Amino acid sequence: MNNQEQKASKRLTCIVCPMSCVGEVEIADNQIVRMVGFTCKRGQEYAKNEVTAPKRVLTTTIRISKGVLPLLPVVSQTPLPKEKIIECARCLANITVKAPVREGDAVYKDILGLGVDMIASRDIEAVGK
Ligand code: SF4
Repeated sequence: MNNQEQKASKRLTCIVCPMSCVGEVEIADNQIVRMVGFTCKRGQEYAKNEVTAPKRVLTTTIRISKGVLPLLPVVSQTPLPKEKIIECARCLANITVKAPVREGDAVYKDILGLGVDMIASRDIEAVGK
């Protein structure tokens, strides 16, 4: 049996609110054994997720045809696994939606089968409307 503990610590800045608390999470044998500096439950939850399964909201643009603008700003409905963000962005680079689009419309459903829709962040009217 290997008695040597695998220890690591990670310093993080919480991005949940403007306080930007800086804390540290210590991990031993893949378990969080100590967490300091995150001053509220939301921050502690953020830190825990950040070291176990980090996620990010994806904001980007996609092409729109017959619209008064060439690009539509979109945002992921909920945060996506951080390691999938680039793959999601590549996927969206290959699609075009058709105007008109309303803010809040799900313009691309279930991206990469992750159960998250991409949502339009603004209205874009069709040309000639
Ligand atoms: S730990 Fe709490 S108070 Fe500090 S930045 Fe995060 S959410 Fe804000």
